[in-house]
Amino acid sequence: MKISSLFLIIVSVLTIHHATAQTGAPKPKIVVGIVVDQMRQEYIYKFQERYADGGFNRLVREGYMMKNAHYNYIPTYTGPGHASVYTGTTPSTHGIIGNDWFVRKLNGTIYCAGDSTVSNVGGSLNSGQISPRNMLTTTITDELRFSSNKRSKVVGVAIKDRGAALPAGHLGDAYWFDASTGEFMTSTYYYNELPDWVKEFNNRRLPEAYLSQSWQTLYPIDSYIQSIEDTNDFEGTFTGKETTDFPYHLPDLMESNGGLGLISTTPFGNSLTLDMAYAAIEGEQLGMGDETDFLAVSFSSPDYIGHKFGPTSVELEDNYLRLDLELEKFLNYLDSTYGENEYLVFLTADHGVAEIVEYMQSENVPAGRLNSRFITTQLKGFTNQMYGEGEWISNVSNEQIYLNKDLAKEKGLDLEEMQKDLAEFVLRFDGIKEAYTASDLKRMSYTEGRKHLLQMGFNHKASGDVMMVLEPGWLSSTWKGTTHGTGFNYDTHVPVIFYGWNVPQGESAAYCTITDIAPTLSMMLGIRLPNGASGSPILPISDIKQ
Ligand SMILES: [Zn+2]
Repeated sequence: MKISSLFLIIVSVLTIHHATAQTGAPKPKIVVGIVVDQMRQEYIYKFQERYADGGFNRLVREGYMMKNAHYNYIPTYTGPGHASVYTGTTPSTHGIIGNDWFVRKLNGTIYCAGDSTVSNVGGSLNSGQISPRNMLTTTITDELRFSSNKRSKVVGVAIKDRGAALPAGHLGDAYWFDASTGEFMTSTYYYNELPDWVKEFNNRRLPEAYLSQSWQTLYPIDSYIQSIEDTNDFEGTFTGKETTDFPYHLPDLMESNGGLGLISTTPFGNSLTLDMAYAAIEGEQLGMGDETDFLAVSFSSPDYIGHKFGPTSVELEDNYLRLDLELEKFLNYLDSTYGENEYLVFLTADHGVAEIVEYMQSENVPAGRLNSRFITTQLKGFTNQMYGEGEWISNVSNEQIYLNKDLAKEKGLDLEEMQKDLAEFVLRFDGIKEAYTASDLKRMSYTEGRKHLLQMGFNHKASGDVMMVLEPGWLSSTWKGTTHGTGFNYDTHVPVIFYGWNVPQGESAAYCTITDIAPTLSMMLGIRLPNGASGSPILPISDIKQ
């Protein structure tokens, strides 16, 4: 045999071997967790025809989509959402029961990712007291680190600090956006100095560049047929621009809308988040070592845009069309960096969102706004009348009433009877559908319906004495725009899509919950379940062995 033909055989054997390794690698080089803040499952279908081939449509076409995936607790907020996706359990167990919540011992409110023992590294002082310490269980990212004796690297990136710190877990690194300096930052929980690659990233001053332009629609505005008229009375506005129509000339809006923080309420916040994700991959050499690494990306801007303009606005539609193009670019980047099928992606959301109340009313759909300040005043009057003058109500927040337990004890009152009185009393208000007592939630075990959702969000030590449930379509906010937090479908139904390494192609309408994501990853990666995980692996995805 001639040397040249021997060479050819060796080359072809190597090539074949290489091709096999690409689809059957024992583990993925990297897991990329994507949370789109406030994304409804509906957006997958509604804008499908206008999405590119390589973004959302690629994930749906080539990956595995659970079409009927839901949040399985109340309240559906950002902090609890991110914690639940990554811990595989609900607020009753992981302890992140709101974005903020009342703490009796402090007679004050704490923030889900707040930590007074740490301070800022980079960025500004006010944005730096952040860590995952309030989260009481491990995350899938923690377990990945433990599984490799911490050789696996974990990085969380988001505009919102809680969107980065909770997914990165107790053992990962987290970077978030500081509106006052326009920089990505971290806290002393993680490092005492910013890594060089973060400093270099900040030196590029990308927020200024993004904000030097106008936000125009990507396509001619009359092609946005999935949305209501761009000019309307329902949507919120930016300060200094009284109308709700395009274009938004960002340089004019900056000063009166949070300076560089304005980027959060534009699609350019998504671009900036991915710029940071690329920098993290390269800076930390993610997915380039021997162990599986994890990049947790959370897109915060869809939430800011959704709150202000609502789910049926041209602004929201344009945000998703632009995010789709960014996603296409990102997937192409992952292909070229790791090779197709060498990386594992999941995409989900941290909650959905309600329609704008006034828009629903204009269409004759029942909806309304609850003024919680009014309710609080009424509760104070009622308790004074029932039990004598006193500060009986310690706090009303997150649709929960906290009673003054010390005073009740001092006056010899039965706390459970008081809870029942209040639960009955609040039912007289329009917009309040049901009310449950903490005593019942502690004593009973509910397996279905709203009571179950409430119980999964109820923490024995931290939650209030009476839990109120709003009517569908009702919001406890009085500002223009909309919000989320209930256990109804518009808030609970979110995308769950797996794509890439060892993921079969398909879709299922079987009910699943977002707490199933982390257990699915545990089974696929062959690592421990997060220590409090209560979800189950999604079998069509985790059972495939190639
Ligand atoms: Zn959110």
